[in-house]
Amino acid sequence: MEHWDEGVYAIRGKGASGAIPLILSAGVHGDETAPVQVLESLQQQLLQRAVIPRRPLLLIIANQPALLNGKRFMQVNMNRLFGAPVRPPGYETKRVLALEGYCRDFADLYGVGWHLDLHSTIKPSRHEHFALMPACNRHYDDAWAPLLAHRGFTALVRQNTPAFTFSNFTCTKLGFESFTLECGAVRGSSASVLRPLLMALLEEDPFAAPGDAQLERFEVAIDLVKRSAAFRFLVDEQCDNFTTFPRDTALAQDSDVVVSAPCDDCALLFANSEVPVGDRAGLVLRPL
Ligand SMILES: [Zn+2]
Repeated sequence: MEHWDEGVYAIRGKGASGAIPLILSAGVHGDETAPVQVLESLQQQLLQRAVIPRRPLLLIIANQPALLNGKRFMQVNMNRLFGAPVRPPGYETKRVLALEGYCRDFADLYGVGWHLDLHSTIKPSRHEHFALMPACNRHYDDAWAPLLAHRGFTALVRQNTPAFTFSNFTCTKLGFESFTLECGAVRGSSASVLRPLLMALLEEDPFAAPGDAQLERFEVAIDLVKRSAAFRFLVDEQCDNFTTFPRDTALAQDSDVVVSAPCDDCALLFANSEVPVGDRAGLVLRPL
């Protein structure tokens, strides 16, 4: 195992030549510790050769200062900086530039692969484990859905607007098949669902044995961007993720613009009016 930088480890793996490489990242948000613990224990097992991956692997613990301080980030939300045209000076920008470089180096060494960026949800969720696919001109979710469903994930959200997230970067800039995986509530344990999925992905052919479990599929109908300090929700923003609302329900208001549910059973995800102006305050989802 090579130690490329603080929290960045690369391992060649023992698979056939041409085995699809895998990037696993966690700790982009320093307050989402459960998936970090899973990756740290995996890293220890790789170090001790208790686990031998069948493919090249890049392991990233993204924001260690924030993790050490028990904070979501030090200066700015790291998951709004990957590939972003304008980035404020500070720790997160420096780190994001470095991580982008390591991912490029890894792709140069081993080819285009897969990336799972692991997160925890802050609020309770009607789907405890779910995947977000970045806006991408290729659709690879059909190939992944059976595997994710087989491993305990219950929903998949297809995004339509590019965001400057880590998974969007590896997908759009490097050509990877990437997902942001929400691996359970922030105070819960991710290990029981996450670890078997990661172990399967380190094997020869993780897609070989999925059953007939199904994912509930959604696409983003509206990105609720907080355009002014006056932004507020007109429904209870403390509601669980994936709470549904009937068509035409007034969901949010920004100055004199009211956003209403554009479909039947519209679901609200990541509602949070406390984000900085210009950031996403939530997603309105349409069931597929
Ligand atoms: Zn997160």
